[in-house]
Amino acid sequence: MTISDEALHKEVTAWLAANWKPTFRGRAAAGSAGGASPEWLTMVVEARWAVPRWSEQWYGRGLDDHQARIVERAFAAVGAPGSGQDRSNLWANTALAYASPSFKAKIVPALLKGEVGMCLLYSEPGAGSDLAGVRTRVERVDDHYVVNGQKVWTSSAAEADYGMLLARTDWDVPKHKGLSFFFLPMKQPGVEVRPLRQITNESHFNEVFLTDAIASAENLLGPLGGGWGVLQTALAYERSVMGEAARGPRSGAKETGGETNLIDLAREAGRLNDPLIREDIARVTALKMLNRMNTARAKADLAQGTSSPIMSLGKLAMSRILHEEARVRTAILGAGSLLEGPDHPRAEDANFLTLNAYFTSIGGGTDQIQRNIIGERVLGLPKEPEVDRDVPFRQVRGG
Ligand SMILES: Cc1cc2nc3c(=O)[nH]c(=O)nc-3n(C[C@H](O)[C@H](O)[C@H](O)COP(=O)(O)OP(=O)(O)OC[C@H]3O[C@@H](n4cnc5c(N)ncnc54)[C@H](O)[C@@H]3O)c2cc1C
Repeated sequence: MTISDEALHKEVTAWLAANWKPTFRGRAAAGSAGGASPEWLTMVVEARWAVPRWSEQWYGRGLDDHQARIVERAFAAVGAPGSGQDRSNLWANTALAYASPSFKAKIVPALLKGEVGMCLLYSEPGAGSDLAGVRTRVERVDDHYVVNGQKVWTSSAAEADYGMLLARTDWDVPKHKGLSFFFLPMKQPGVEVRPLRQITNESHFNEVFLTDAIASAENLLGPLGGGWGVLQTALAYERSVMGEAARGPRSGAKETGGETNLIDLAREAGRLNDPLIREDIARVTALKMLNRMNTARAKADLAQGTSSPIMSLGKLAMSRILHEEARVRTAILGAGSLLEGPDHPRAEDANFLTLNAYFTSIGGGTDQIQRNIIGERVLGLPKEPEVDRDVPFRQVRGG
């Protein structure tokens, strides 16, 4: 059934007026839609606003991108989270595309409602940029799978209920072909999580040791040996999220990385009339505007059902913006940026953002890897040589 833009806008704004309360902001499971309580997310899912582009069978309304954005804008206008998960929820989108019908029926609603915590079990000590080189081993035993290996840099592993696991199921075919993709249950004896300390002195990511961990047959996503294809979809969603949003200052000040922050900061520091500072602020503002437009373009591609290489432009741009913005903050504060502690929140923020900018330029694929992807897939440059691409993985040397 089609609905006019006006009727849709009226329906969603009336629903929000009747239901949304700021007290619904809260912490759902790790990785779920930005800062909302499961109670609120459940209401959004049941009212079919969470994934308006998806079909009715999957909690959606089958809306086109234009109408889905009317819904998202109405949510944004009152500051309510939870809508637009058909673009942003990488876990639910990956499960919808590749999980078996029975597992999908269980996991997709739980993911949309923020009831299930998730993490990404991709990187290993010997495989990060070269993810196709993972050596975590999965073997079929009777009706289930047994997992052995080690993962690293796993964000939110301690709170997660499931990890999206990339692992090797066939050692006798070339490296991209012997991989499979699982939703591995994390709360089991075979999974040991050890926290790591970051440069920002926080501890959001972990090492994960897998020793005879068990995955059931329904935890397999996509075909056995088809994990590389599933990964491409998951990575495209991850990069689009990272290309669009970034963490703001730790102090919890009103800033979230917006251009007015730098202007306020410059005014406060008496530097607003400094021509070099003004030029710096203008550059960061222009980069952000361009990145917003590019992200919209990449998402339109994704809505057509393709994993878009243009996503890499957004993530790379966000990484540059974050480093640049942190540099400009430091320049505005001058020598004051060397101060630390609660009496100097502006300096704390500048220093935190300087260090935290590496999150985006390494996590989800480094800047250099994004440049390779853009070179090869967007600009059509020759592919990087890969000497081990067609060799059975068993013969590939590695640690
Ligand atoms: C904050 C944060 C959170 C993370 N969260 C997770 C997570 O939840 N789950 C997960 O699985 N991983 C996670 N990671 C890991 C991240 O995906 C990897 O660190 C990243 O892919 C790089 O891999 P690596 O660290 O092994 O570096 P390497 O691959 O060893 O790279 C080292 C350096 O060599 C460069 N390089 C490598 N290959 C090439 C090439 N072909 N061309 C040009 N340069 C190259 C890289 O750009 C880099 O500068 C996280 C990382 C960070 C920083």
